[in-house]
Amino acid sequence: MAARSSSPAAVAAPAWHALSPDAVAQRLAVDPRVGLSVEEAQARLRLHGPNRLPELPGRSAWAMFLAQFASLLVAVLAVAAVLAWVTGEFADAVAIAAILLLNAVLGFVQERGAAQALASLQRLSAPTARVRRALAVEVVPAAELVVGDVVELSAGDAVPADLRLLSASALRAVEAALTGEPEPVSKTASADLPGGADLAERVTLLYQGTSVAAGEAVGIVVATGAGTELGRIATLVEREPEQATPLQVRLESFGRWLIVGAAAAVALVFLLGLLRGHPLDAMLRTSVSLAVAAVPEGLPAVVTVALALGVARMARRGALVRRLAAVETLGSTSVICTDKTGTLTVGTMRVCALVTLEDGEVDEVEVEGAGVEKPRAFHRGADLEPVAPHAAHEALLHAAAGASTARLAPPGAAVQVLGDPMEGALLAAALAVGVDSEGLDAREPVLALVPFDAERKRMAVVRVLGAAARSHVKGAPEALFARAARVLVDGVERPVTPEDLARLEAANLRQAALGRRLLAVARADAPRGTFAGDGGTRDPEQALTLLGLVAFVDPPRPAAAAAIAACRRAGITVVMITGDQPATALAVARDLGLAEAQAQVAHGRDVESWDDAVLAERAPALRVYARTSPEQKLRIVRAWQAGGATVAMTGDGVNDAPALKGADIGVAMGLSGTDVAKDASAMVLLDDEFATLVAAVAEGRRICDNVRKCLLYLLSGNAGEVLVMAVGVLAGLPLPLLPLQLLWINLVTDGLPALALAADPADADVLARPPRRSDQPLADRAFLGVLSASALLTAGVTLGVYTVALAGGEDVAVARSLAFSTLVVEELMRAFVFRSRTRIVWEVGLFSNARLLFVVLLSFGLQLLVQHVEPIARLLGAVPLSWPQTVLVGLLGAVPATILELTKLLRRRLARRGAGGAEVTQD
Ligand code: ATP
Repeated sequence: MAARSSSPAAVAAPAWHALSPDAVAQRLAVDPRVGLSVEEAQARLRLHGPNRLPELPGRSAWAMFLAQFASLLVAVLAVAAVLAWVTGEFADAVAIAAILLLNAVLGFVQERGAAQALASLQRLSAPTARVRRALAVEVVPAAELVVGDVVELSAGDAVPADLRLLSASALRAVEAALTGEPEPVSKTASADLPGGADLAERVTLLYQGTSVAAGEAVGIVVATGAGTELGRIATLVEREPEQATPLQVRLESFGRWLIVGAAAAVALVFLLGLLRGHPLDAMLRTSVSLAVAAVPEGLPAVVTVALALGVARMARRGALVRRLAAVETLGSTSVICTDKTGTLTVGTMRVCALVTLEDGEVDEVEVEGAGVEKPRAFHRGADLEPVAPHAAHEALLHAAAGASTARLAPPGAAVQVLGDPMEGALLAAALAVGVDSEGLDAREPVLALVPFDAERKRMAVVRVLGAAARSHVKGAPEALFARAARVLVDGVERPVTPEDLARLEAANLRQAALGRRLLAVARADAPRGTFAGDGGTRDPEQALTLLGLVAFVDPPRPAAAAAIAACRRAGITVVMITGDQPATALAVARDLGLAEAQAQVAHGRDVESWDDAVLAERAPALRVYARTSPEQKLRIVRAWQAGGATVAMTGDGVNDAPALKGADIGVAMGLSGTDVAKDASAMVLLDDEFATLVAAVAEGRRICDNVRKCLLYLLSGNAGEVLVMAVGVLAGLPLPLLPLQLLWINLVTDGLPALALAADPADADVLARPPRRSDQPLADRAFLGVLSASALLTAGVTLGVYTVALAGGEDVAVARSLAFSTLVVEELMRAFVFRSRTRIVWEVGLFSNARLLFVVLLSFGLQLLVQHVEPIARLLGAVPLSWPQTVLVGLLGAVPATILELTKLLRRRLARRGAGGAEVTQD
């Protein structure tokens, strides 16, 4: 696709940045206040097509197929095939080549399936846009935007198309994707620009592919899809390659070691064989067999399958994995740093108390009601004395509503909040005192807006008030107390005294100790033309008149406490990081069982005063960070990482992006999260639930367990085969197994059960043991112990059968067939042993992995065919066995699995005795 094949409209596009907003609206035939009509939008969509970038060609199927051959394991098999051909073993050579092909096809099918599954998951998180259509604000898929649409944006939004700004307040955009400039740049709706201004100088335009770093904006779509600036260069932009996950990298290096080891073993046996006087061509043939025995053919497919299955399961549970590597990292997560609002709590705010000043007193009134509906009643004190709302409440809630930008959706059956849920609750409460937000903007037009940001923790809206202007301000209590010059007492403004502030602060702490969130509300009056943004210079957030406090409840999520308890059992530390004040945060943390004492809470101010070393030293004792700025999140992540922890961090705001990137796993909120946060994250929680995150951690552990099981199963199988072959040859016996028989074992009786093990359900104790450290080697001591025990047992029994048969005067072909079948039975039985490290097959449940049971039975059936149908036996260089021999093979084949299971029981008994002994000594 050529870079210039954009639509004709784009070729003739005027210099939008140089036109006034009115001129743009006129040319695009839209009234900015109303937006396009739904029919018009549909008509334009049909005419110009969806707002999508031209598709980049994906990795072609051929490239993916050929990539299957680009591995060392394959190289070894290829050499083996050539050797087989050279030594005249044409059947072996052809078989090995066929296996290579089959393996590549299998790998290709698996990988393609996984890639498609991931792609369809990504479509689930497709971006949306807030657009004005026929006077209403709708959220539509970004792909449905058309030229002329009026789009509303706020901090954290991805810009969904190229836009000419109609209005902007404190707007800053990150345009790194287009210009390479990492710092946010200021944007404005009104600037005189020459038609020939550079891309980077067009401050009146927002571009698709960039994002809003701060502020709010309304813009009109001037280009979509291929017509956007990004669309024009899209074909030049490199697609980010999918990185190999740490496990895949580790397996890769593991594979290299395996090859080196196997090559050394083959060389050794080859030399010793020659020294013992075996003929050269026989030794070459033996080397082929050994090489085939050593290569775990199923290995690469197994990891891909385990990861892909895990990703699909997580998605079903509401956790969208955006980077494959996250799946494994989740398994070793040892610390979860989580937001409070909306993640641990429900996130639906309700106004539950009002605090105003009376002469010498504070008046605390409880508000009864539900969610965003108008409150039902006000009452006071323990005996619930009913209260009629008075003038102070009216002033308080009027200013609170005036300082909000959220809207309640047109009064219908169910009230809905567009914007911040806390503001929605304020607007609903304001209804109870006769302040209707519906016509507020018309009655008191907005003159200037200082948007909320988490750093300042406050915001102001300047509105017309008769002939003058009034700044309505709301924010964190301490942020407003520090800016108060006056207070409203009994309906009269007077200068604020330290006693006033002390009384309000006491009320604030009382309310916060109940786990409530608090906002202070204030106002400031001035003649028109005084405030910044209204033609003057006065800061709308200075010299305020305090009106009182509003308290909100946001109950803990029902599943959060249980999930936190589960984390504790699983050895995972949960840390709450919130913008809320310490008293509120601690009360909620206590409710959830996350923290007990004041000493576990740190204030953002303290964190600021500590250097990184002090923070790293204190972090392990802290469970709650309050009044934290998003910038501190990254430092907290680093502090834990310095101690070797694997950290998952949740976030939703645009400022959270650095911490989300810096954490081992960044987790964005699907509902409340901004596009920027999602983009920076490895995982998205579709339901914003903390419990979902914990479920994903459990799933991550399961996947790591399963990869480990598969690895153990495959490698111990190969080690056993190598032992059988090497010892046999060194003992001067004829080849115990033929190359074709080894391939059969590796693929049919090893590969299939290994794939089934990759889908094994979680062990019951998956969340009852401490996390594995991510730097712990795959093959630790326990792993190597079980691997060698298993390899020695299988090789011992197989060689035993072989030598006894030979000593009993059996033909080599018969002895070999007996050894072959014994080994197959051993392998199949072992598959059940590796499902758990501690529990035996009955405890795990024979039927809990139906797929495994099925493939094992299937493989048994196939092996019976090999043993009893002459032509099939001959294909594999074997001879048919008698039924008594079959029974004998079955019994002997069960020996290694039985011994391994008995060892588990023995170890358990010893451990119990050890633990009992420890208790006694403790007493
Ligand atoms: P959490 O980190 O638990 O999710 P949060 O993200 O809601 O909390 P912030 O959004 O950083 O925390 O808010 C910090 C403080 O700023 C709040 O405790 C509140 O006092 C104040 N605040 C929040 N939203 C607004 C708003 N829309 N207008 C005015 N003040 C606000």
